[in-house]
Amino acid sequence: MARKKLIAGNWKMNMTPSQAVELINTLKPLVANDEVDVLLCVPAIDIIPAVEAAKGSNIQIGAENMYFEEKGAFTGEISPAMLDDAGIKYVIIGHSERRQYFAETDETVNKKVLKAIEHGITPIICCGESLTQREQGVTIDFIRQQIKIAFLNVTAAQAASVVIAYEPIWAIGTGKVATTEQAQEVCKAIRECIAEIYDDATAAAIRIQYGGSVTAASAAELFAQADIDGGLVGGASLKEEFGKIVCYK
Ligand code: PEP
Repeated sequence: MARKKLIAGNWKMNMTPSQAVELINTLKPLVANDEVDVLLCVPAIDIIPAVEAAKGSNIQIGAENMYFEEKGAFTGEISPAMLDDAGIKYVIIGHSERRQYFAETDETVNKKVLKAIEHGITPIICCGESLTQREQGVTIDFIRQQIKIAFLNVTAAQAASVVIAYEPIWAIGTGKVATTEQAQEVCKAIRECIAEIYDDATAAAIRIQYGGSVTAASAAELFAQADIDGGLVGGASLKEEFGKIVCYK
């Protein structure tokens, strides 16, 4: 079965709750494309008003992060049960900004992936190399390691519905989009890695997004690649341009 593309926004630390509602109301008619899954991952405080604002549209609301414990003395964190109770079905895990500024590691990513799955929330697992790693020629090796650790103790059945976002760090927020060849090469390598860990059926089912300075101008060519099943979009998801990315065809 053909994989349905998932086009997701990552708002990062932008939009107050009232701004979030306003932007969702603006985007609703612009993203009305049932051929793809449309998701907006929003700051924790925006989740409840965003879910309310998105009702009756094809926009799903996701989270940008969650903690790997059930509950307790973890001041400032959001638990999977809280997300679940708010109706959240997707959570971004291991974004490079969280790895860089909040000391997330492949091991904490794995713990969060397992916990999200346990609560019926689909993790969008981010991976991607730095510019130095690309220049050193270790991109694929590095990403294979990130993937292998992220999927430790995840079963094949669970893995099939997980989402992976390949986001080269040098392309995030820089306006420097990877070429379609670079993006396709790594997404293909990720799929091959999943086939090695599990099997061909799991690799064929899993959705792999590209992220990094995706715009309305680059979306169609990127999403036409055999192993790219949509995108994780930062800056352009905060604007009406997101509608053009969702309706890329
Ligand atoms: C992101 O935040 O995941 C991202 C890809 O950002 P941008 O599209 O702004 O590069």
